[in-house]
Amino acid sequence: MSACLAGDNVRYDGVPVRDDFSLKLSTFVEVIKVCPEVELGLGVPRDKVILYHSEEGPRLFQPATDRELTEDMLSFARNFLKSLPPVDGFLLKSKSPSCGVSRTKTYRDKEGRLFRGFGKGIFALEVLKRFPHLPVEDELRLVNRRKKLEFLLGIYMFSFLREKEPKKLHSLIQEPLSLFLPGTERRLRKANVEEYGLFIKKILKKLPVGVLETLGEKFLPEKLRA
Ligand code: SF4
Repeated sequence: MSACLAGDNVRYDGVPVRDDFSLKLSTFVEVIKVCPEVELGLGVPRDKVILYHSEEGPRLFQPATDRELTEDMLSFARNFLKSLPPVDGFLLKSKSPSCGVSRTKTYRDKEGRLFRGFGKGIFALEVLKRFPHLPVEDELRLVNRRKKLEFLLGIYMFSFLREKEPKKLHSLIQEPLSLFLPGTERRLRKANVEEYGLFIKKILKKLPVGVLETLGEKFLPEKLRA
């Protein structure tokens, strides 16, 4: 989880974030916190960093210090993600040039004057590259009820796989799968942990929201669903 969402005072402006859902989630799951910008030694408070696009793709830059941070961030992200124990998902901070999964402003120039559009942060892109099958969201996207259920059920289901229990997981979701995705249900009956993991996000995307609500009522703590 982005450390600022988990309540750590690590934002560039020194103003803490207060996100009730992230704080609530932290009381139900084991959280590994990280602030990639603090890990680069940028300090709190720090001069703002921005995301700009060069021909090579998105780049991280600190205009006030004229500092290119892309390579340092990529190297930190790759080493950090490689060092993680098995995890069930990521909850990152929206809009951030490092952590944003959505709504991160990108610019055409290094000074951040020419707005280009919205994209994803450099750290978030590495997370998505290394863990394409895990639930990866930011707090802003989870305002959407369906996305929130997909995320919570996803981390719940991956925790079963982490315990190496694909058959148990299958027995819990077999009924709605047989009804709505019979082909997938048949395919997953004998799937091993890795194969099952490849299907979780796809299954959750395809099931109707009413079914996700029912699964949520069955498996997720009420306080977390609210
Ligand atoms: S968004 Fe990411 S980089 Fe920015 S303060 Fe939060 S954890 Fe640190």
